[in-house]
This record gives sequence, structure tokens and C-alpha cells, in this order.
Amino acid sequence: MKQSVAILGATGSIGQSTLKILADHPDKYHLYAISGFHRIAELVDICLQFQPEVVALPQGYVGLFKDIAAQKGLKQLPELLLDEAGLVAIASASEVDVVMAAIVGAAGLSSTLAAVKAGKRVLLANKEALVMAGEIMLAEAEKSGALVLPVDSEHNAIFQCLPQQYFSHRQHNKQPQLGVSRLLLTASGGPFLNFSLAQMQQVTPAQACKHPNWSMGQKISVDSATLMNKGLELIEACHLFAISEHFVTVVIHPQSIIHSMVQYIDGSTLAQMGNPDMCTPIAHALAWPERISTQVKMLDLFDVQKLDFCPPDLEKFPALKLARQSMREGGTAPSILNAANEIAVAAFLQEKIGFLDIANLVDAVLQQSQFESADDLNVVLAADQCARDNAAHWIRQYGVQA
Ligand code: NAD
Ligand code: MG
Repeated sequence: MKQSVAILGATGSIGQSTLKILADHPDKYHLYAISGFHRIAELVDICLQFQPEVVALPQGYVGLFKDIAAQKGLKQLPELLLDEAGLVAIASASEVDVVMAAIVGAAGLSSTLAAVKAGKRVLLANKEALVMAGEIMLAEAEKSGALVLPVDSEHNAIFQCLPQQYFSHRQHNKQPQLGVSRLLLTASGGPFLNFSLAQMQQVTPAQACKHPNWSMGQKISVDSATLMNKGLELIEACHLFAISEHFVTVVIHPQSIIHSMVQYIDGSTLAQMGNPDMCTPIAHALAWPERISTQVKMLDLFDVQKLDFCPPDLEKFPALKLARQSMREGGTAPSILNAANEIAVAAFLQEKIGFLDIANLVDAVLQQSQFESADDLNVVLAADQCARDNAAHWIRQYGVQA
């Protein structure tokens, strides 16, 4: 029996890597539904190649989609579902077994949560959804029986290095279980690892988006450059593996060959390694507990020769420190951090604020916020909105005026 797959965010970097794997395994997977927010021509191309039954897109793009579909000779028009309601509908459709949650940012929260509530196998790339509403999401997964599998390469690596039964033994006491003592979350350090603060003051969006090892969407590329990405991943790891933040160490490893590690009480350290290509974690999460092939080049250790490690410099990369503090604070603090960061990254990409302002802005918004418990989605969404408003205010005050 083929598994029926929905890809939320099919036109993005993770979406495209997922499509590559589906194309390699037509005997195992059927693409039932996709979504896209822009790049409508690419959305039509996916329809030409895979003939999904359903497409979710913004209402304003329906006409454009139909025009491009006619131009490109798409014979069978898929059912078109609109806006956020469309995303939620495909995430929870009874026809769907597996949902790839690959929308970027808080925009993916409602559909990711819908997939979890519907009890799907959820391949989680949209880390922001978990950062915002980790407690809610995992409580819903427990109720519905949804299997939330990490696609983020570090979390997928940790998942591979943990004992098989770790997930089902998740405890609520935030202590490592089953002989695990610590998680080592690796980070490439991004394009500015060896820059001074003075140099970082001057960097452009184009420089920030040029990651040394990975090819990714713009937002996560900037997050990797500030190390906010590692901060979001620290929070993601705490939720996914039910562990408190002081059991997670961030290790800078510029080659991105080891994707993360798990240490055990007997002195063992297990690492998952591979060439940096998201097709590996995506294929792992799709097929788990089995394995399927990918076209990723096999790791050649003679080629790699050496692996370097160092601790992160929190003076140069304060975003990581802010994320750890917000996880320690708990409640709505991580969703405030995330919302302020989304606004800051967008403003940096539009050249309204400088690179170092991203963490300054997030810090300022956190400092003026009050934190509440995050077990009610409305409270989380209100905190998210308030942080966005405060961030926009900060930019009006300190950003470059148009
Ligand atoms: P991307 O920018 O390449 O793609 C984002 C996708 O989301 C696109 O399909 C876009 O159309 C859709 N989208 C954007 N805004 C939307 C909105 N408001 N409503 C609905 N859809 C919207 O991003 P990406 O690099 O593929 O990252 C996707 C997610 O996966 C992010 O959460 C990122 O942190 C995570 N992730 C990415 C990578 C990677 O290598 N790219 C690795 C690990 C985790
Ligand atoms: Mg990652």
C-alpha cells in the first residue's frame, strides 16, 4: 500500500528536497496534496510532474495559477483550497497519511497543529511551530497518536542516536532517560563564524543568506548566521526529547558532517554523520523505522580528513543566549522570542535594520514582555501578536527610515 503524502510548503527548499525523494520512490509514496504561498509557476510545475489531487494557495493567486496551468498544458486541474483554511484542510484530510510540515515561520503553526490533531505522521521541518507551541503540540500528539518525527537535521540525528524506545518513554520530568546523559547539538557557526563584531556590523543580506554548507530558504539562512537557528533548535530539542535545556550543549562544528550527538552515562558518545543534504533526514523520517535510498553522495572520510569543534561565542552571537534564557523562562517566552525574530529578520532582509540589530531587537522585545503559561493556544497567539507589534515599534524607532 502506498503512503499518501501532503507537503505544506512544497515550493520551498525542504518541499523541493521532499519532492526529489518522492520522485525516486513512486512505488512507495503518492503525492496527494501540496501548498505554496508564492512561486506559482513552480507550484504548477509540481502539478505537471506529480498530479496531486489538491493544491492549497492564497486566494489572490487562483487566477494566476489557472492561467499558468493552461499555458503549461496541465490537463487535469487539481481541487484548489484557499488560504489558511485550505492548509488546515489538507493537513487533516482523511486521504492523507503523512504530512510534511515545511512552511517557514509562525505561518505554519495552524496547519502543523491540525496535522498533529488529526493523528498523522508529521514530518516536522517547521521548527517555529514547535518553539511557539511545543507543549500544546506534544499534548495533542499524545491524545491523537500522531507520530511527530524530526526533519531538522540535528534533531533527526539525535533521534537516530537515541534508543528506539526513547520517544515512547518520553517523561514529563525533563530528565534524560534510558542511560542518556546529554545531547550535543552541532552548529556550523554560519557564514560569520570568524568575523569580528565590527565586521558583522556591516554585513549585507546577500552575505547572510550565503551559508557555507547548506542551501536553504532566506529566513533560516539568516537565522543560521545569527545562531538564532541554533537557539530555536535548542528549544525544539527540549520539546521533542522532553529534556530541560541544561542537558543540551551547543557545539560549533564548521564542517557540518556530524549532525548531532547523544552521550550516555557509560561514557559512549553516538554521532550521526553524512554529507550535509536535507534529503537524508527527510528520507529517514518518511521511511522510519525502515530505510529508503536517496541520491545523497556517500560520506568519504578520507575526503573530509578532519572534524573541528569549538564552543559558541555568546558575545558575538547573543541570539543563542537569548533563546536559552527564554527556554529557561518557559511559557510564552519562546513564542515572543520567535515572533520578534521573524519581524527582525524580515526587516534585516529589507535593509531596514543592521545584522547585529536582529538580536538587539529580540532582546528589547523580550525585556519589555511579561510571560504567561503557554498551554492555551489563544494565549500563545496573543503573545506572538504583541511581540510582533513591539518589534515593529522598535524598528520605527531605531531602524533606517525609508
Ligand atoms: P523556504 O523559504 O524555502 O520555503 C518556505 C515554504 O513556506 C514555501 O513553500 C512558501 O511558499 C511557504 N510559505 C511562506 N510563507 C507562507 C505563509 N505565510 N503561508 C503559507 N505558506 C508560506 O523555507 P525552507 O528553507 O524550506 O524552510 C522551511 C522550514 O523548514 C522552516 O521552518 C525552516 O526552519 C525548516 N528547516 C529548513 C531546513 C533547510 O535546509 N531548508 C533545514 C531544517 C529546517
Ligand atoms: Mg537544523
